[in-house]
Amino acid sequence: MTEFRDILTKLGFTEQEVSKGDLQVRSPLDGREIAKVVTHTTKQTTDIIKSAYAASQEWRKIPAPKRGELIRLFGQELRQHKDILGQLITLECGKILEEGRGEVQEMIDICDFAVGLSRQLYGLTIASERPGHRMMETWHPLGVVGVISAFNFPAAVWAWNFALAIVCGNSVVWKPSEKTPLTALACQKLWEQAVLRFSQKIPAISYVILGDAKIGEILVDHPKIALISATGSTRMGKAIAPKVAGRFGKLLLELGGNNAMILTSSADIDLAMRAILFSAVGTTGQRCTTLRRLIVEQSIMSTTINQLAKLYQQVTVGHPLNSKVLIGPLIDQAAFSNMQKSIELAKKEGGHVIGGERLFEKEYPNAYYVRPALIEMPRQTEIVRHETFAPILYVMSYHSFEEAIAMHNDVPQGLSSCIFTNDLRQAEMFLSAVGSDCGIANVNIGPSGAEIGGAFGGEKETGGGRESGSDSWRNYMRRATNTINYSRELPLAQGIQFNLPGKN
Ligand code: NAD
Repeated sequence: MTEFRDILTKLGFTEQEVSKGDLQVRSPLDGREIAKVVTHTTKQTTDIIKSAYAASQEWRKIPAPKRGELIRLFGQELRQHKDILGQLITLECGKILEEGRGEVQEMIDICDFAVGLSRQLYGLTIASERPGHRMMETWHPLGVVGVISAFNFPAAVWAWNFALAIVCGNSVVWKPSEKTPLTALACQKLWEQAVLRFSQKIPAISYVILGDAKIGEILVDHPKIALISATGSTRMGKAIAPKVAGRFGKLLLELGGNNAMILTSSADIDLAMRAILFSAVGTTGQRCTTLRRLIVEQSIMSTTINQLAKLYQQVTVGHPLNSKVLIGPLIDQAAFSNMQKSIELAKKEGGHVIGGERLFEKEYPNAYYVRPALIEMPRQTEIVRHETFAPILYVMSYHSFEEAIAMHNDVPQGLSSCIFTNDLRQAEMFLSAVGSDCGIANVNIGPSGAEIGGAFGGEKETGGGRESGSDSWRNYMRRATNTINYSRELPLAQGIQFNLPGKN
């Protein structure tokens, strides 16, 4: 493992950039300060938005496949720096190195996807009711896209938005989490390397602004930001959604989840155990798609709890740069105290708790390592319906399949879901209109770890947005319906007659 300063140097940071700022960056690995970076003022932020808008007016004139060429170059930079950027992600947000590298791979994947997409930004041709007429749709860039992102995927979520927004002809202003500014600055540096290798000179179309929610609010309120794509808590979504709606801006929200698995008695239990473990404790329970609720058929409830309790004791918690470790630290003290509060509430609501305690307090007094918690609940109580961003898995039993589906959907969030079953009827019902009400519904796969090819996002308090694959690109463009008359007549739609005076 390279020393921390070496990582920053290899990613192009100068000493000045990481030592002279007003924003302290602390590593969750041991709580020490690893850098100080400069935040932006209100004036600097509004100036950046102005520059981004001017740049978008030029960038939109460049043909989309040419725009794709620049994203291809960016993907190459990411390939070359996958290891080192993965290490920075681990140091700054605490996920294990394997997942840090995985996050960069996800960025590479979306770049590849966007390059192909740059030749497929197509609209429909529609039959016109009028003779000698043709109707079609064309798609145009929006202008400036504002991206607000969360700490737990400090690079990939931006990349999902960025790669698509750029090939769609927009410029992008990114406000990363104040907990992970270094990763954002590193991504911007790699982007600037790609721009240098691009075959033509272009205005600056990518910007990073650093600061807390107040700086984010400037983006949210600014009339020149055509689309706000915001990833984070439901609380943040509730604060910004009315503001963007109030100025008729476009909004893409990726908010909290409370993801469940229905485990039926016909399931392949070994497969299910592996899926539960990765999706409930991986990334220290700090994925929006983390498995938080396990809904188990009554007949296999006690064996399931026993098996899980054994696995939970065996799972290795520790320094995330150690390759044997599966679970790193929580992001900070606030995350730890939220976890403890939820465990206490669960106990009051009748829960039986296994694990959940703090580990390595002596070695790391300023870092928050925990044993993941497994909590057997008598029913789906209030605390279970709430997203706690930590490794807590609530386990509840069901009698009838209908009851399982009802319990599954009876939460305010609607991001990801899955069923483990070998019963075709149950699997199909889970995926049908009367099954899971989430944006992501899987069979015999856990709820976390989505591929970039599908549209990613969820319903209800998760915000309704879709990012990444499928036709999510449409979020970053505006649609125009065009009708072309190639006849010498002027027939009106709906057969309306509107003759000029003196004409028959
Ligand atoms: P957070 O809501 O505290 O912060 C997210 C971002 O929003 C940060 O950049 C923050 O500065 C900014 N922000 C907060 N309030 C704002 C405001 N009023 N105006 C403008 N900007 C504001 O979230 P977090 O703790 O960083 O991340 C964890 C949360 O994110 C969890 O709820 C998790 O489920 C969610 N998340 C969702 C997805 C998804 O795709 N659905 C992905 C990752 C994380």
